[in-house]
Order: sequence, then C-alpha cells, then structure tokens
Amino acid sequence: TYQGMSKERMLEIRKLNCNAMTMKVTYYKKPLYIHQGFMQWLWDVDGSRYLDMFAGVATVSLGHCHPKVTKAAQEQLQRLWHTSAIYIHPQIQEYVEKLVSLLPEPLKVVYLTNSGSEANDLALLMARLHTGNFDAITLRGSYHGGSPLTMGLTSNTVYKYPVPSSLGCYNTMCPDVFRGPWGGSHCRDSPVQTVRECSCSPDQCQANDRYIEQLKEVFATSVPNRIAAFFGEPIQGLGGTVQYPKNFLKEAYKLVREKGGICIADEVQTGFGRTGSHFWGFQAHDVVPDIVTMAKGIANGFPMGAVVTSEEIARPFAEGLHFNTFGGNPVACGIASAVLDAIKEDRIQENCAVVGTHLLKELAKLRDKYEIVGDVRGKGLHIGVEMVKDKESRDPLPSDAMTEILEDTKDMGVLIGRGGIYGQTLRIQPPMCVTKEDADFFLAVFDQALHNYTERR
Ligand code: PMP
Repeated sequence: TYQGMSKERMLEIRKLNCNAMTMKVTYYKKPLYIHQGFMQWLWDVDGSRYLDMFAGVATVSLGHCHPKVTKAAQEQLQRLWHTSAIYIHPQIQEYVEKLVSLLPEPLKVVYLTNSGSEANDLALLMARLHTGNFDAITLRGSYHGGSPLTMGLTSNTVYKYPVPSSLGCYNTMCPDVFRGPWGGSHCRDSPVQTVRECSCSPDQCQANDRYIEQLKEVFATSVPNRIAAFFGEPIQGLGGTVQYPKNFLKEAYKLVREKGGICIADEVQTGFGRTGSHFWGFQAHDVVPDIVTMAKGIANGFPMGAVVTSEEIARPFAEGLHFNTFGGNPVACGIASAVLDAIKEDRIQENCAVVGTHLLKELAKLRDKYEIVGDVRGKGLHIGVEMVKDKESRDPLPSDAMTEILEDTKDMGVLIGRGGIYGQTLRIQPPMCVTKEDADFFLAVFDQALHNYTERR
C-alpha cells in the first residue's frame, strides 16, 4: 500500500478515471509505482531504486528534486505565487534576460507559456501573422504537440485523431539515414558511425540532396510556393532520435526562406545543453532559426515553455493582445532561473558531452555484438538505439519483443524510453547529471537484457 491505498486500487482508479492515453503508454506489463526521486534516482513504493535514464522524456533536465532548483521553488512559493502580466515582476525580467543572453542575435523577444504545445501554437501563429502565408511544413515522424493546432504539425499517427486537426500542415520525408532510402550513419554528426555503402562522399552528401529534393516536391505538390513556417527538431525526439545529414537543416532553411517562410527550431528536447557540443541543438546545424521554441527541460519538470524570436517577427503579433494567465509565473521563472544557473555551475553541458560520448561508443560495441541492435545514434545525452529483427532486413523489432527488453531492463533497475514511428527505438535521455559510473551500470544492464532476449529465442 501507499499512504493507505493498495496498488490494485491505484490501478483501478487509473483505469476508471485517468485518460485513456495514459493507460496506453504504460511501458510495462507490471506497472511501476514511482513516488520519490533524487537526481538520477527514482524509488517505487516498495523501496526499490531505479536509475532513471529517461528523465520523464528528457524533462527532468538536471535531476529529480535538484537541491538548488528545489530551494529556488521553495523560496519563491513563500514570497509570491502569482501575479499578472499587468505588473512588472523582477523574477520574470531577470529570467528573460538570462535566457536571451544564451541565444544569438536577433533572438531576444520572449513569450512564456506553460507547455511545448502552447509554445509551438504561438510560434505558428506568429509565423502566419509575420509572413501573411498560411502553410507549415514539418518532418515525418516529428512531434510538436497535442493541441488541435500542433496536432497538425505532429507527424506520427499515434498522436493524431481522425479529424481535420489543423489545416495547412504538410510534411516532408524525414531525412533518416538509417531507415530512409538514402544515406548512411557517416552522413550525420555523431561520435559513432558504421560503415554503410551509400553514394555519399565526405564533401558531397548526395543523401542530403535527395532529402532536400523531397522538400522541393512538397512545394511542387502541396504547398503552392508560399509558406509560413518550417518546423524542425534539431534531432527528432519521439520520432526515434533521428539525426539528419549534416547540411539538411541548413539547406532546408535556405529553401523555406526563399519561399517566404520562416524557420522554427523546436528545442523542447534538444535544448539546454543536452546535446553536449552546443547549448542549443540548432547550433550544430550552423543555422540561426527565426523562432526557437522550448519546454520540458527548461524548468526541470515544472510546467513551463517559451517562444523566443526577433522583434521583427514578433511585431504583428504584438499588435494584438495575447494573454496567458499562468505562462511564466514567478514560481516557474524562479525555477527556470535556477536551472540556468545550475547548468553553468555544475558544468552540465560538458557532462552531457563526456558521458554521452562514452555511452555512444560503448553502445556501438553492443550494436556490433547483437543482431537485433541495428543502429546507435545521437549526441550528448540524447541517444537512440534502433532495434531491428535482423541487420539485413532492418525490419523494426516487434512490439512484444521491445516490451520484453524494456521490462527486463526495468527489473534490473534501469528505466529507459521508447520511440520511433514503429515504436522500435530505445531512447536514452537521462537527467543531465548522470555520471560515467551510472552509464556503465546502464550499459551492463542493457547488455544483460539483450543477452537474455537472445538466449530466450
Ligand atoms: N515538441 C517536442 C519536440 C516534444 O517532444 C514535445 C513533448 N513530447 C512537445 C513539443 C510538446 O510539449 P508539451 O507536452 O509540453 O505540450
């Protein structure tokens, strides 16, 4: 029991009274009853400890109940919970100033929201007002939110309903160099590579050209030469940690701008140092977006999101009156401010690079050891392991097999995530405080789970 309530009753209430989607995304046959966390560790109601290698989908960026962040929350809760945009509040102004100092010019106008969906909603509206165009293009497999508007941007039917969720949203082929028709792992910017026969040379990535042609085809077939916005995650998250060929975003941005559109980087999963080499995911693509959207890790799990853009793009939007009751309230800003301080003080970005690269290199050894590990990719602590029936066919590993591996990993004390349009990718996106020792523990457990699975066949 937990605080007098039995596990059976908890499950019953969840089935009866919680939304159906919540039921669906339970990874495990035997559910987990998590009730406490500290940094990279979680405890269930029976006192078992788990190493959290998923951080609630990369949301608990610094670690559960991070002391500095918790202290900031407590202090602000004792001072003031809520005010309104009518008044000036030092906590909010202080945060916004810190945030824009981390972004390149001309990105300096911030709108604070409560979630990533709200942030992308706002970004699309701004793009439409600024350009006078309507259509938006996203990459297949992407996730940009679950609100009626962003559901149109999201390109994964698991998260879509059969209603016209958002008019004017189109998508282009995701430049996935593993599962897609062109390219190989050497086309992308990652510390791990496999040799794969493809038509690319180091200075001329033909795979990239092909995927850009696909985008051109969207203009030729669906979007009549005028576009409001192109949305792209610097590395796809829910889509299965998909990394694009090195120049893809740069060339896509160029094309979209030629067609009168603006470019939006969805940094909800890739931001705040997670990719290790850079603070923002877009920086590795050598582009400056017109709008950057963020959420999840921005406040270490406290509800918050943000849209950052230029004065020029914000202008038509600023002419109307936009109001968001809770967006960027003093508590959220106090927390988010402590998050930025801790990232700097704890040298978090560096840790992501060091531990992430170690993980990637070791995972690549497991890829070479097991037939069912097709691909290992990612940067920093944003890692995907693509599971296949066999290396030859590259068919996705069936769902029940994925569940078996996840369950076994959990039973040995490690929590990891799952994604990809066939649910075939294991996702490693831990709190950014994980150490090399934690990584080694995870690697040993994962190796054992793969071994167990192979033995059982
Ligand atoms: N963009 C990306 C890349 C995401 O991963 C998510 C959440 N999974 C969102 C947007 C939407 O964020 P939220 O759930 O906070 O609305």
